[in-house]
Amino acid sequence: MPINDLKTLWEKTLSELELQISKPNFLTWFKNSRLVNKNPQTGVATVGVNNNFAKEWVQSKYHKAILEALQNFDEEISRVEYIVFSPEVEEKIFKKPKPQIEEVGQVGFPEFSVHPETNLHPRYTFNGFVVGSSNELAYAASLAVAKEVGKKYNPFFVYGGTGLGKTHLIQAIGNEITKTYKNRVKVKYVPSERFVNDVVWAIRSKRMDDIKNKYRTIDVLIIDDVQFIGGKERSEEELFHTFNILHQNNKQIIISSDRPPSAIPVLEERLRSRFEAGMIVDITYPDYEMKVAIIKNKTQEKGFDLSDDISHLIASKIQRNVREIEGVINKLHFYKEYKGKDLDVKTAEEIINNTIQQAAVNINPAHILKCVGQFFEISQNDILNKSRRKEIVLPRQVAMFLLRDILGMSYPDIGEKVGKRDHTTAIHSYEKIALEITKNRDLNQKIILLKELINKNP
Ligand code: ADP
Ligand code: MG
Repeated sequence: MPINDLKTLWEKTLSELELQISKPNFLTWFKNSRLVNKNPQTGVATVGVNNNFAKEWVQSKYHKAILEALQNFDEEISRVEYIVFSPEVEEKIFKKPKPQIEEVGQVGFPEFSVHPETNLHPRYTFNGFVVGSSNELAYAASLAVAKEVGKKYNPFFVYGGTGLGKTHLIQAIGNEITKTYKNRVKVKYVPSERFVNDVVWAIRSKRMDDIKNKYRTIDVLIIDDVQFIGGKERSEEELFHTFNILHQNNKQIIISSDRPPSAIPVLEERLRSRFEAGMIVDITYPDYEMKVAIIKNKTQEKGFDLSDDISHLIASKIQRNVREIEGVINKLHFYKEYKGKDLDVKTAEEIINNTIQQAAVNINPAHILKCVGQFFEISQNDILNKSRRKEIVLPRQVAMFLLRDILGMSYPDIGEKVGKRDHTTAIHSYEKIALEITKNRDLNQKIILLKELINKNP
């Protein structure tokens, strides 16, 4: 099908979809979408969207509507697939390939660099980790863990606020061990969300043995953001047993969390005491000098020069989060490299201020309710009011679930926030959704997407 026909077909489809989807959602998810291909033999239409997040979202929420709308205009279409269609991909598909030289240093697709067995990303190394007073103990202990695997500090528990380098550090341990022992030692990095998902699907498909085999044969198990497992009973139980077996066999266990074990409210006592029996270290906020050092390190990694003035400006303006520092550097880098413009202090300051403002939207109950409303395409009033309609009740329960799951709010507070309801309603909602997501794949997926939306601080 020629590109122009694809374009027309997609325009028609969009005009149909526009009638079914609220305006903000339509703009958010379909603004830069397009029909990339249609295969007349197989009947497969390929829709391109902006990023992975949009892909999962569009697929899970609008798939049926898209397929039907497309079929309205083209009966040959029997299936729709989705791809991420960024400007780089477009370049590859539609334009002549660039000369080799330009490809060097091109921004790659980071997810492709993750090692398929260990899940480790090679960029997280000890070398690339700047050490200062806020993390020196954590760093020294991590080195020791990598050196004396399973012997010295086991389990090893790192905690600290978001964006302060926990993931970097625990992955660096994994990368260091892999470097030393090659494939003689089986290392696996597992975000807690993935662990929980694995457990959920093992239960669903009655294949608990698979999960046992998968996790209990590992030599170095790295679990990131374990606070997420707290309160998910079957996952806690599975982690507890995995933990015991690995530990008995002197396998190394490395855990990160945003708070110490004692402060994860719903963590089962026996798991908490296992964590507390090992080495616990924290990472706190970097001081000024360390921030400057991190900035130097990051710009060097990118091979890009930043004046001392601008480095100091970033260090003084960005208070806490190393991830934000990186975000600013990326933006400045982009500005300089891709726009080919010189960076003066004034422009840099504008870019920094912008970044800070964006990050300032913190996660509060109102933000969560707003995201839930957007996701289910209902209004705030619908959530707060008394309507018993099915399409309102579920989102309302999900909202209550998330207020507890993400913010750890008390049941009376949740009831109060969500239309002055009784605390028993909040308890019921939380428990219902918590159970439902272990059984209902679709809802589970929605909750994951919603959490991503909430965390994205749009
Ligand atoms: P967390 O897991 O604590 O939320 P991350 O490990 O994801 O934080 O760190 C956020 C970003 O900041 C990462 O890109 C990481 O490489 C970088 N970073 C954090 N701390 C340091 C440090 N001390 N030195 C170098 N980079 C760091
Ligand atoms: Mg992390």
